[in-house]
Amino acid sequence: MNKNLIIMGAAGRMGSMIAGLAEEEGFHLAGLVDRPEYTAKLAHWGCPVSSDAAAVFAACPPAVIIDFTAPEVALNTARLAARLGNPLVIGVTGFTAEHKHELEQLALKTPLFWSPNMSVGVNVLLDVLPRLARLLGPGYDLEMVEIHHNKKKDAPSGTALRLAESMAEGRDWKLSDVACCAREGQTGERPAAQIGIQTVRGGDVAGVHTAYFIGQGERIEITHHAHSRENFARGALRAAAWMYDKKPGKLYSIQDVLTYS
Ligand code: NAD
Repeated sequence: MNKNLIIMGAAGRMGSMIAGLAEEEGFHLAGLVDRPEYTAKLAHWGCPVSSDAAAVFAACPPAVIIDFTAPEVALNTARLAARLGNPLVIGVTGFTAEHKHELEQLALKTPLFWSPNMSVGVNVLLDVLPRLARLLGPGYDLEMVEIHHNKKKDAPSGTALRLAESMAEGRDWKLSDVACCAREGQTGERPAAQIGIQTVRGGDVAGVHTAYFIGQGERIEITHHAHSRENFARGALRAAAWMYDKKPGKLYSIQDVLTYS
């Protein structure tokens, strides 16, 4: 039997792609939520549609929720899910440290998943990049460049920050101590204990991330290209299927899904 699914941000770029793939991935669309000006656009899906998340969650049978909205909205979804006990998969980026702390607390009350990037390739990179940083050693400078479409609201991308964090782990650094997200003017020489994270924005690029390991006389570049959003949408649905029967207790991530499914 298909699993019930509610989508928060169903009219958005990610939400609409997830709605389109849901049935194929074994879900029944049990409810769609977006802002009032977009609900009419969602009527053709033939399921309950509203701008009132609380009403949809309460009216729908037990369902897993996927949220691709914005940080404050997704946090509210998590508070609501924690009250009602729905499993929740969040794909939103741009959370502050305080937001993440609250998500971790809410994950003790309801099954909660958050991943800034749902792609298998990016998550394999999270395993590979720290090992490369460690193997190459301190003689190699670490840099990250990301490219996204011109509608993206946060920078650097959540994925760039997470990948850079993994590179920092390979050097036993804390990313917040070594991240450099802008260079301009008389910057002086590049400190060895630094990870530059640069941002490019334009057109319809779904997401490109390049990790640089730059030494004397050679460099390694590893680039991940997301060809479309479908990859992320299928990853979110795979996470939702995995979360359906999970217990609360920790903030799950795509690493858990890849490791234990
Ligand atoms: P989008 O702007 O196209 O979609 C967001 C949707 O949320 C819109 O339809 C908007 O109307 C809706 N929304 C806003 N406030 C709402 C509210 N209060 N209630 C209900 N709906 C509301 O954005 P997008 O490109 O789909 O990206 C959404 C988020 O997902 C961003 O944070 C983005 O960085 C992130 N993202 C993550 C991944 C991943 O793999 N984890 C992949 C792509 C995008």
